[in-house]
Amino acid sequence: MGRREESVLVTRSSMPPFEEYVEMIRPLWGSHWLTNMGDLHQRLEKELKHWLKAENLSLFVNGHTALEMTLQAFHLSGEVITTPFTFASTTHAIVRNGLTPVFCDIREDDYTIDADQLEALITEKTSAIVPVHVYGNLCQTEKIQEIASRHGLKVIYDAAHAFGVEKGGRGAASFGDASMFSFHATKVYNTIEGGAVAYRDPEMAHEINGLKNFGILDEETVALVGGNGKMNEFQAAMGLCNLRHLPQELEKRRKVWERYMEHLKGVPGIRLCPERPGVKMNYAYMPVAFSGFRKTRDQVFQELSCQGIHPRKYFYPCVNAYQCYQDRFSSEDTPVAAKASKEILTLPMYADLPLETVDEICRIVLQ
Ligand SMILES: *Cc1c(COP(=O)(O)O)cnc(C)c1O
Repeated sequence: MGRREESVLVTRSSMPPFEEYVEMIRPLWGSHWLTNMGDLHQRLEKELKHWLKAENLSLFVNGHTALEMTLQAFHLSGEVITTPFTFASTTHAIVRNGLTPVFCDIREDDYTIDADQLEALITEKTSAIVPVHVYGNLCQTEKIQEIASRHGLKVIYDAAHAFGVEKGGRGAASFGDASMFSFHATKVYNTIEGGAVAYRDPEMAHEINGLKNFGILDEETVALVGGNGKMNEFQAAMGLCNLRHLPQELEKRRKVWERYMEHLKGVPGIRLCPERPGVKMNYAYMPVAFSGFRKTRDQVFQELSCQGIHPRKYFYPCVNAYQCYQDRFSSEDTPVAAKASKEILTLPMYADLPLETVDEICRIVLQ
């Protein structure tokens, strides 16, 4: 078989038809209102609040800033328990707030933080837990909430992967004190760059909305040491357009996911994420763990790369093995996460991925 003409990347950003986007941004040439909570921003905030089943929601320029400013809004101190099996953003947001991350290991089957190990890590300095719904797999939300409530801790979810995921009819946005969503170009739903925080307590609106606009409350009052976290109108326009096509996109993703499952389910040495009853998935990623398979993860990665197919070692390395944290943490403290980071590949996954390409990817993996 010859080399493929175009390489297949791990993801491909969803975009609306060009004309649709142009229609959406056309009014901006009349209003000249480009950012600072304009009309499109307000419309998107309202629609997403509904979509995510969030009680309160605030849009941000990106997911990371949303998380960083949300942590600031809760006035946390001391230590924050989190997972090393995540994207750099989660831990950096904690550290950039002057807080100390404490890494809890993860569960072997769905890679989320292991709630059974949380309590042993709580000290008198702990102020919050920041779990991650990795690959859209929801954390053990009830157990985490029970522990947090008993110890008076805040729970702020990194829900960057969990757009549209629901459990028992409840949106991912409804768990904990707050949840950050990312609308980065590579995510299930995008606003080019973008993000939001959903939060439980309506009293937090003042702080969260204030922090993203330099803490400016009105023309003469600057009450908070904020930054610039505002989503602009061009981002919001992309978001409004992409939202219209989202149901079809999710349906297409489901078909891709099912095709992968047909090929890979039950293969010895290959571990797939478990399906949970009552959970509405978003098919954001296709994580596959090679554990005791006849090829290592890195061999599979190589073989696919040679054929122009580019999966990702997501997440490798673990955060506690990062160069910038090498003097402070060690991945040996979280062996399950360290092992997962060496075993997992996320295979190409996006709405327009042809099913024949899925067949081809699986053939290379299994041959
Ligand atoms: C994408 C992502 C973020 C950061 O979101 P941005 O919108 O890219 O800033 C944070 N955490 C996780 C787990 C992510 O995947």
